Amino acid sequence: MRALAAFPERAELRVIDVAEPAAPTGHQVRLAILEVGICGTDRDIATFESVETPPGSDHLILGHEALAEVIEIGPDVTTVRTGDLVVPTVRLPCPDPGCRACAIGRQDFCTTGEFTERGIKQAHGYLTEVVLADERAVVHVPPQLVDVAALIEPMSIAAKAAEQAQAVQQRLPWQPERGRALVLGAGPVGILGAIAMVVSGFDTIVYSREPSDSPRADNVRQLGARYLSTMEAALDKIPAVVGPVDVIYEAVGIAPVAFGATEALSPNGLLILTGIPAPAAPATLPLDRIMKNMVLNNQAIIGTVNAGRTGFALAIQKLEQAMYLVPDSVRSIITSRLPLDAAPDALRQPHGVKDIIRIRSV
Ligand code: BGC
Repeated sequence: MRALAAFPERAELRVIDVAEPAAPTGHQVRLAILEVGICGTDRDIATFESVETPPGSDHLILGHEALAEVIEIGPDVTTVRTGDLVVPTVRLPCPDPGCRACAIGRQDFCTTGEFTERGIKQAHGYLTEVVLADERAVVHVPPQLVDVAALIEPMSIAAKAAEQAQAVQQRLPWQPERGRALVLGAGPVGILGAIAMVVSGFDTIVYSREPSDSPRADNVRQLGARYLSTMEAALDKIPAVVGPVDVIYEAVGIAPVAFGATEALSPNGLLILTGIPAPAAPATLPLDRIMKNMVLNNQAIIGTVNAGRTGFALAIQKLEQAMYLVPDSVRSIITSRLPLDAAPDALRQPHGVKDIIRIRSV
């Protein structure tokens, strides 16, 4: 069978032939991959700066935003059946029995750093035809989400962030209302974050580089959010233009933008960081002012990565609501479906907002 692999030593990205996995044992399920979304993490891997291949392998098979069909189940499997459509999760638990997070299936909070991630860190991913996974690492896809199911994994990032935000804001001595949310960045993670905010009832503003009359800005408005271009307001002008915001969902991965945005936070506000910045030259920020404001206004910053099963379940819920309210906006995030042979090019140069590699027809 074929797979898309990155070879770090040769700085090479190509489609290779690999052996099909053996029959599933125990709690394993055998999955036929249908579609895989490409994201910024895949594109970072494709720069070969730091590719983490599985032990003993000279390559990493990419892909972590997948939709698959269960084609065979191991003898101990009880939760899925052959023919089910599922999304496999990404992070696998670390081997340390002392890691409480991994022991309870919340490897998204792994404390040892020894976790692996399918298609990202020391474990082969889903940009291939058939894979094995544990039944606990797959989540059922409802039929109405099949054509947008490759968005469930990136939506799980926003869903976990929402879960975390709720937990953090329980620090407030009253039940906080759905207020105003600012999303930084109009890439797939930003747009999905905006959708999650809109369906949760936030007055949502997406702040990004594209001009206000761009198709991306139109898409933002269609999904029920407002759009503010960086061309119209610098970061420190956001409070004057839209008012202070209760939550900021950062999805740009640019540190000065992320921390500079604290200027837009309301008292008791929360900044959620999801972007993973590429190394950049040190930047100058008014840290004394930022710190003073944060202290005097009880503000909080949290980082969040990956998602557990609850994040995937919540992502499915949010996508279901969004497919009911704004189906065209959700569908328009997927801008192309390409064959596996086109994957190396799509990794180097995006064709649109979200490129999907179609391995087999749904
Ligand atoms: C994936 C996460 C992963 C993170 C860091 C993101 O693109 O969606 O599942 O934990 O990259 O590797």
